[in-house]
Amino acid sequence: MKPVPTYPETAVELFALRDGVGPILYAPIGQLMARVNEPAAACALAYASDHAALESMTEDERAVVNELAAHGFFDERPLPRGEGAFRPVQVTLFPTNRCNLRCSYCYAFGGEGGASGEPLVEMSPDVARAAIDFVADNARALADEGCEPGCFIVSIHGNGEPFCAFGLMREIVRFGREASERVGVPVVFNTATNGVLSDEQLDFLLRNFDSVNISFDGLPAFQDANRPTAGGGGSFASIDRTMRALQDAGVEFGIRTTVTASMVARMSEIVAFVADNYAATEQIHLEPVWECGRCTTSDDAMPSAQAFTESYLAALDVADARGVKLIYSGARQELVCDAFCKVGGGSFTVTPAGDVTACYEVSYASDPRSQRFFFGRFDEQAGAFVFDRGKLEELGRLNVRNFPYCSDCFCKWHCAGDCAAKVLVGISPEAHAGSVRCEVNRTLTLDQISRKLDWNPPEERGDADGR
Ligand code: SF4
Ligand code: SF4
Ligand code: SF4
Repeated sequence: MKPVPTYPETAVELFALRDGVGPILYAPIGQLMARVNEPAAACALAYASDHAALESMTEDERAVVNELAAHGFFDERPLPRGEGAFRPVQVTLFPTNRCNLRCSYCYAFGGEGGASGEPLVEMSPDVARAAIDFVADNARALADEGCEPGCFIVSIHGNGEPFCAFGLMREIVRFGREASERVGVPVVFNTATNGVLSDEQLDFLLRNFDSVNISFDGLPAFQDANRPTAGGGGSFASIDRTMRALQDAGVEFGIRTTVTASMVARMSEIVAFVADNYAATEQIHLEPVWECGRCTTSDDAMPSAQAFTESYLAALDVADARGVKLIYSGARQELVCDAFCKVGGGSFTVTPAGDVTACYEVSYASDPRSQRFFFGRFDEQAGAFVFDRGKLEELGRLNVRNFPYCSDCFCKWHCAGDCAAKVLVGISPEAHAGSVRCEVNRTLTLDQISRKLDWNPPEERGDADGR
C-alpha cells in the first residue's frame, strides 16, 4: 500500500496526458491545458518537478518552459480543501421507504425495506419539521454573520418513492415555507421522483418544486422492463405523462437513467428519444448500474468500462448535436474539489426512521455501512437532532487527500476518489484501491479535455456545430 501523501497548502500540479491526437499538458487546479509535442511535455514535467532542471536545458527547451510559465502552467495554486464545520443549509429528507415501483436494480430494495426487510415506515412530521428548522436556522445564523447563503434547501428523495408519503410531502413543503418566513431566508425545494404519480400528486409537483429529477430508463421498453410497478405492470405511460406535464408547465427537469449491460449499446438512442420527446429536459444523467441492492438478485449487470465509455461518447455526439447536456457522475473536469460528494462534510440526510446519514445509499441501520455513514438521529425527548462529532470527524477523512491510490491520477481533483459508498466498502480510506469506474472516469475526463482543446469559436468554424 502506498503511503498517504501529504499535501501542502499550495502546489504546482502538472500531468502529461495523451489522447488520439497526441500529448497534452494538463494543470488540473487551474484547469489549464495545451497540446504539445513529446519533448515539450518532457521538459515541462522536468521543470515542474525541479526548477533547477532549467539549467541543463537547451535554448529551445527554455523557450517552451518560458511560454508555458507565461500561461500559468507552473503557478503554485491553493489545493482544494473541503467543507469546514458541520453547519448545513441543505437537508435531504427521505419521507418513506415505501415504493410503488420494484426497479430491478434498486440499491435500496425500495418497497421491501432494504436488504434485511426492515419495516415500511413514514417519517414523523416532527422529524421533518426539526430537520427543516435546523437548516433554516443555520441559514439565518450564517446570514447574520455576513456569509449570505442566499437560501436554504429542502431536497426530498427517498429509499422509496417520496410521493408514497404524499400527506407528509405536503407537510414538508408547508414546514419549509413557514421556516422561510420565520428566518427571512428563501427556501428552495427539489425532489427526485420515479414520476408515477396521481393527478393530484402531479399537480402538487408542478406547483411546488424548483428543481425536479425524474428517474427514467430512456426508452419505453427499458422503463417497463426495469422499472415495473409493484403490481408488475409497466410504468412508461405514467412517467411519460409526468414528463409531458412538466414540459407543458415550463418546468425544466433532469432525467437520470441507470444503464445496465443489456442497455449499454443503445445510449445514443436513449438520448435521441429524450431529446425528441421531452425538449424541456435540462440534462440526462447516464450512470452505469452498480451491482448492489436488488441488482444482486436480478439479471441486471454492470456494463464493462469499455462498452460504457464507447457508447457514452457516441451518445455525447448525439446530445451535442441536439443541444442536450449529458452527464456521468465520475467525469467532471469542470469541477475542482477534494471530495466526490458531500459525504465527507456530513451531508445532512434524514431517513424515514429519523437517523441522519451522510450517504444517500446507506439508509438502514441494518446496513453494515451505517457504522460509517450514520452520524446522528432525532432525539424525541429533546425534540432536536443529536450528532456524533467523532463520526463526523471520521467522515471528514473520506477525502482524496487520504487516498494514496488516487495520488498520481490526473482526475484526483475532479473525481476526487469517486463514491465512497462504492469504493470504500469495509475498508479504510488508505486502502482505497479504485474500481472498474476508474477507467470510465479517466477516459471520459480526458475526452472532456480533448473536446475543450479542439473547440473552435463560432467565427472560426466551418460547420454548424463548431468543431
Ligand atoms: S422507484 Fe426508486 S426507490 Fe422505488 S424501487 Fe425504483 S429505484 Fe427503488
Ligand atoms: S458516497 Fe456515493 S452514494 Fe453516498 S451520497 Fe456520496 S455519491 Fe451518493
Ligand atoms: S484513481 Fe480512480 S477513484 Fe481515484 S481519482 Fe482517479 S479515477 Fe477517481
